[in-house]
Amino acid sequence: MPENQQRLMGNTPEPKTPIANRVWSGAKLALWRSKVAWDITVRQAADIVQRCRHAEGCDGGADENAPCLDSCPDREIRMSALVVLNAARQFAPPSASKLANQPYTAPSREFFADVVAELAACQAELETLRGTVVTAPPENETPKLKEKT
Ligand SMILES: [Zn+2]
Repeated sequence: MPENQQRLMGNTPEPKTPIANRVWSGAKLALWRSKVAWDITVRQAADIVQRCRHAEGCDGGADENAPCLDSCPDREIRMSALVVLNAARQFAPPSASKLANQPYTAPSREFFADVVAELAACQAELETLRGTVVTAPPENETPKLKEKT
């Protein structure tokens, strides 16, 4: 039996990927931001659809799924807004709670050790740069401009 099928049947455990806490938090934050953005998109697109003008006898004003008549003045705008609206509904995460509302876990000592080590490396790099960057002109070169005597 193929491995995928074995996994679906629960015979072999699902492979897992360990992920750093700060990366996981970043992913959750990105999901929450995406949710907020999609919610705004749904509201605005629905608003545009609501404001579209329709020709006499068009069902589009009352029913979102009804197609517009050819004579509707805002037919194209409504179709574009419906595309945005449906994309927002389809791709918005079903739920994404704000990170601040979730239980807080303090960063580990290893995380702080990593940050401190990175800072030390940056400091060393800065010292190297300060040591090698020459701001004074080369000594053996004679000045090009000379005053007449
Ligand atoms: Zn219409």
